[in-house]
Amino acid sequence: MSTLLDVALSPEATPEAIESTPLPQSMRAAVVRADEVEMFAGLDSSEKDPRKSLHIDEVPIPPLGPNEVLIAPMASALNFNTVWTSIFEPLPTFGFLKRFAREGALGARHDLPYHIVGSDAAAVVVRVGPGVTRWKAGDRVTVHCNYVDMEGPEGHDDSMIDTRQRIWGFETNFGGMADLSMVKANQLMPMPTHLNWEEAACLGLTLATSYRMLVSPNAGGMKQGDIVLIWGATGGLGGFAAQLVANGGGIPICVVSSPEKVQLLNSLGIHTVIDRKAEGYQFWNGEEQNPKEWKRFGSRIREFTGGRDIDIVFEHPGRATFGASVFVTRKGGKIVTCASTSGYNHDYDNRYLWMNLKSIIGSHFANYKEAWEANRLVDLGMIHPILTETFALDDVADAAYAMHTNAHTGKLGVLVGATAEGQGVQDAAKRATLQDELDGWKNLQ
Ligand code: NDP
Repeated sequence: MSTLLDVALSPEATPEAIESTPLPQSMRAAVVRADEVEMFAGLDSSEKDPRKSLHIDEVPIPPLGPNEVLIAPMASALNFNTVWTSIFEPLPTFGFLKRFAREGALGARHDLPYHIVGSDAAAVVVRVGPGVTRWKAGDRVTVHCNYVDMEGPEGHDDSMIDTRQRIWGFETNFGGMADLSMVKANQLMPMPTHLNWEEAACLGLTLATSYRMLVSPNAGGMKQGDIVLIWGATGGLGGFAAQLVANGGGIPICVVSSPEKVQLLNSLGIHTVIDRKAEGYQFWNGEEQNPKEWKRFGSRIREFTGGRDIDIVFEHPGRATFGASVFVTRKGGKIVTCASTSGYNHDYDNRYLWMNLKSIIGSHFANYKEAWEANRLVDLGMIHPILTETFALDDVADAAYAMHTNAHTGKLGVLVGATAEGQGVQDAAKRATLQDELDGWKNLQ
């Protein structure tokens, strides 16, 4: 593998030289195994430990098909979908791979007794398949995880609506936490030139999801001056959401759960922050909702906003917060939801929704255009990576455990091909002009 990387990263190497450098016989990959999907049977979610189910195995190199690209991830990043895969919730992801296999020979390649995880990467291209013309071996790329053909008409306006749309590394095999990974050519985007590998690897999934939720007309359609409630504002989604709101002229009302996280946001210039733990909100009394607490929360928000209510809620905790989210939204406002971390059977008082003409909008990852627009904001230096810690590939299960137990902040990077942190910067002068902003998220360590 090291010979291939040496050639692929050499500024002198031609695409032809890289293409003719032999691939290794096998590769390292972070996997869950099909014969272990029952290992946590009968346990509560909180007792299911990714450190038992995620393994670094030696596996074969995936075969390349038309319009596909073989990349060597230099770094990847943890996403919550790797937590879901590793605790086999809500379903083992092997079911997705079997369904993919029923679509034909190319899909059948993904149906294996192991699932290589990872839906983010910053990588170098090492092979291009038939039909790929825009990319060549040696290109340095970031990867977005929207895996779709768009053969059918449904997704032609918005590829996320395609009936066969999948998330790479979650609903497909051959994710980014491996020495080599297989992606569709249309998943590739140019790597922002001022970033190192691990910073660039933490952008794709959560930044583009947040961009669609807030900025895109497909979901939030945020305007200047909009007041946006952001749950988990120092998490993977929320850390980008807070920046997107501030960058777009909105007013972020951020919710976090520790004084350190409040301090981090303050140090980034965001002072409208609620510490949900310190303020002790109890939106549920056992199995019953607690509307008095929704009201207390709403009053707290109004202290920041001069009495105005929320224009857009950035929702993902789900069951724990959804009733409060619907309540605190202004008349005509939007609750944009992309997840249900704390439980997917949501409960809210519908009177507050219909009488006040509020909308609940479902949002999921991002179409190509949204992913590219979000990536461009990073390249322009308007939005910055939110990386707080970087793990070796061998330690990826520790990173997944930290995420599962909400012990992390921002994004957790994973070094794959890179031999140390800080490698891969292409434009040091540009980086120097943005160094303070890039250091911002490192304040919390
Ligand atoms: P993170 O764990 O990085 O961040 C989530 C944040 O949510 C935490 O930092 C925590 O912040 C907050 N949180 C967790 N539980 C609760 C709770 N009960 N009440 C209030 N806040 C809570 O995860 P991500 O941001 O990466 O992902 C969040 C969810 O979104 C996951 O379920 C993930 O699977 C999903 N997701 C969906 C996508 C899609 O396209 N549909 C894309 C990306 C993610 P704090 O404790 O500080 O309040």
